[in-house]
Amino acid sequence: MEKVNMEANYQVQQNLTNGESEKVSTSRFSPLLASKDRDYLLSPTGTQVRVCDLEGKIIGLYFSANWYPPCRNFTEILVGVYEELKNNGSNFEVVFISSDEDLHAFNNYHACMPWLSIPFSDLETKKSLNRKFDIEGIPSLIILQPDDNKDEAVLHDGVDLIYRYGPRVFPLTRKRLEELQEEERETHERQTLTSLLTNHDRDYLLGHPTSKQVSIASLVGQTVGLYFSAQWCVPGVNFTPKLISVYQKIKRMVRGVVGEDFEIVFVSSDKDEGEFESCFDTMPWLALPYGDPTIKNLTKHFDVRGIPCLVILGPDGKTVTKHGRHLINLYKENAYPFTEAKVELLERQMDEEAKNLPRSEYHVGHRHELTLVSEGTGGGPFICCDCDEQGSGWAYQCLECGYEVHPKCVRAGDHAPR
Ligand SMILES: [Zn+2]
Ligand SMILES: [Zn+2]
Repeated sequence: MEKVNMEANYQVQQNLTNGESEKVSTSRFSPLLASKDRDYLLSPTGTQVRVCDLEGKIIGLYFSANWYPPCRNFTEILVGVYEELKNNGSNFEVVFISSDEDLHAFNNYHACMPWLSIPFSDLETKKSLNRKFDIEGIPSLIILQPDDNKDEAVLHDGVDLIYRYGPRVFPLTRKRLEELQEEERETHERQTLTSLLTNHDRDYLLGHPTSKQVSIASLVGQTVGLYFSAQWCVPGVNFTPKLISVYQKIKRMVRGVVGEDFEIVFVSSDKDEGEFESCFDTMPWLALPYGDPTIKNLTKHFDVRGIPCLVILGPDGKTVTKHGRHLINLYKENAYPFTEAKVELLERQMDEEAKNLPRSEYHVGHRHELTLVSEGTGGGPFICCDCDEQGSGWAYQCLECGYEVHPKCVRAGDHAPR
């Protein structure tokens, strides 16, 4: 916070002694975006736009590179939001800070963006912005307010916020974020299974065959998993058979237990109806019709960023967890009913069982010895190198190269000393 203020003051003083115009002297963004021999930014067509023209605007500093797919994906989203904000007269501007490999790549990438950029050749400014805002990964979007220099006013998670709220997040102040979070909490509190799954011209789900309609009312009071997946999604196609096996086991477990039942609803993002049908054909549960508008609403409501994703709703229709996939990978059918209390119990059991696990193991296909780690001893969320699924808590980790597998996935390899 101090730093920005000091730089701004310094600029004002310097300009006053130089006798420059007041307009330049009050430019909040010059110390950040101009350099000693450049007081302009570039438009996508290469024309120069003075830094002081940004005065009074909310600025997004966009750290990005064309060679990284997540950047290109986010650029597309940001262009949409930016244009919508421009059209309704919002005082928002974006400045691109490129990590492209060369000028040609930069020019091509900047041409897809409707906003300004630091010139590609100005390494010095790009470096100092990266340092100043502690940029650790791209894409990154830092939001600066025009009239508030304080560190607390700077938002560092612009990418996340734009993905989550779109143009509604404007004017990107802390106050606005609090309002949105409050709204979100309220909608989630009001949520019921019926409000989530029905719309004004449909109160049913598809069964097998798809001509069979199952009323949503019949699911009320059950634990319900919403399974976001699609035929084109390889991790989804890999996860579905595991989920089927777990689903069948849970169904057997709850059969005959009064007041308990379990169902899954496929929420498809398939690209056409044929793919939807061949995907749904393999699944023993229900589905929302292909292309139903509710699918988009659910994706937004649960902020689903990647598939496959399994959201679990409790018997009261409230969200129990959005990490159903992860829990099934860790605990299989034992994860049911996915509640916090159940997960805590399973974690305790896992800690208990881990006491009996060997401290080190060899795993087939990996030449180094693996060490048993937990969250507390250098472990943490990881992707299992054996089953490609996420893990957390206990793991066997190679301290040399970071290779990591679930304890349940370890199979003694050839290198195991006998
Ligand atoms: Zn595994
Ligand atoms: Zn290794």
